[in-house]
Amino acid sequence: MSALVEVRRRVPFCRTEISLEARAAAQRILASGWITSGPEVIEFEREFAEHVGARHAVAVSSCTAAIEIGLRALQLPPGSRVLTSTVTFCGAVHAITRAGLVPVLCDVDPETLMPNAATTRAAVSRAGGADAMVAIHFAGQPAPVEELAEAAGLPLSRVVEDAAHAIGTWVGERSVGGISAATCFSFYATKNLPIGEGGMLTTDLPAVAAAARELRLHGMSADAWRRYLPGQASWRYEVKSEGLKANMTDLQAAMGRAQLRHLGSWQARRAELAAIFDAGLAGVPGIRLPARPATGRHAWHLYVVQVEPEFGLDRGTLIERLSERGIDCSVHFIPLHHQPHFQRLLGPGLERAFPAADIVFERIVSLPFFASLGDHEVERVCSEIAGLSEQSRATTGDLHLELTR
Ligand SMILES: *Cc1c(COP(=O)(O)O)cnc(C)c1O
Repeated sequence: MSALVEVRRRVPFCRTEISLEARAAAQRILASGWITSGPEVIEFEREFAEHVGARHAVAVSSCTAAIEIGLRALQLPPGSRVLTSTVTFCGAVHAITRAGLVPVLCDVDPETLMPNAATTRAAVSRAGGADAMVAIHFAGQPAPVEELAEAAGLPLSRVVEDAAHAIGTWVGERSVGGISAATCFSFYATKNLPIGEGGMLTTDLPAVAAAARELRLHGMSADAWRRYLPGQASWRYEVKSEGLKANMTDLQAAMGRAQLRHLGSWQARRAELAAIFDAGLAGVPGIRLPARPATGRHAWHLYVVQVEPEFGLDRGTLIERLSERGIDCSVHFIPLHHQPHFQRLLGPGLERAFPAADIVFERIVSLPFFASLGDHEVERVCSEIAGLSEQSRATTGDLHLELTR
C-alpha cells in the first residue's frame, strides 16, 4: 500500500476483531448439527469463570440481560430502589425497570466520569434510601465497589456490577468478577472480547448462579436444553419461574472461547495505545487526559478525553472537524436524564440534579480505540487534534487582537 493511500484511510471508531481461530470455531459448530446452547456454552462458562477468578459463570445473550437476571436473582420486592450512574448505557437502566425495580440516578465525579461516594450519598438521600446498586466500571476503570456500597449503606450482596467495559479490570488486588452478587460482561461487537452479541454473569454465590441458569431460559429447570440431545431425549421439564429468553448459543460460545485466547495480547495492546495517546496529547492545551486509577488495573475499553474551554473549539465542533479529516469519534454517554424516556420515567425536578454530568457531557469525546489500531493511526489522531487546537487558538488570538486594536 502506498503511503498516500495509507494516510487517507479513515480511522474508524472501532474495528471488530474476529480472530481466525474464532472463524474456524464458528465453521466447526455450524457443521456439527448442534447450534444453540450446548456443550460449548458449558466449556466457555468454565474457562471464563477461571479467567476472571469467579466461582460461577452463566452465559447469556447480552450484558443487558445479565443485569436484569442478576437483579432478579436478588429477589427484591417490586419497586425497590436501585442506584446507578446517569452516565451509562440506556440498556443498564432498562434492565432495572424490566426487573420491576426503580432506578435512582447518581451524578458522577468529573475526573472519573463515574459515581463516587459523595454523589452516591447524595442520590440515596434524594431517594430517601436505596435497596441495591448497579455499579459501572466506566471505560474500564476500576469502580471502588466496596466504598460505593458502603456510601449507599448496602452490603456487597446487593450490588450488581455492570462490567460491560471491564473485562480485564482489577479493583485493588482482584479481577472484576466475583466481588459483588453478580458481575455482568458484554461480548457486543465493540467490546474488549467481541463475539458480536453475548454476555456473561459471574458470581461467587451458588444461589445467584442457580437462579441465573433458570431465569436465562424461560424459567425452566436448568438443564432443559439437554432434552434435545441425542440419547437424552425427554419431553419432561419444569417451569419454575417467569424467565427470559436469554440463553447463549454454542456458535457464540465457541467463538468466545477462541477469542479468549487472544484477550491477553489485546489487553496489553490497549494499555500500550493508551500510553501513546497520553504522550501524544499531553501538551495540547484544553485536552484533559483520562484519569488513571491509583490502584487496581484499567481495562482500557474506551479512551475518553475532555475538551475544556481552553481548547478553543467545543466538543461537537472537534468531532465534526475530525470527521472531515477522516477520523471517527463517539460520545459515551449522553446522560440518561437528558433522554426523553428517562425524563418521563423519573418525573420532573431532576433538571439540576446532576451538575457534574451536565458539565462533562459537553466535554467528553471517545477517540478511536481498539486493539488493532496502529501507532501511526494514533499519532495521526493526536496531531490532527493538536493542529486544530493551534488553528483555533490562532484565530481566537487574531479576533482578540482585532477587538483590542
Ligand atoms: C455495551 C454496554 C451495555 C450493554 O451490553 P449488551 O451486551 O449490548 O447488552 C451495558 N452497559 C454498558 C456500560 C455498556 O457499554
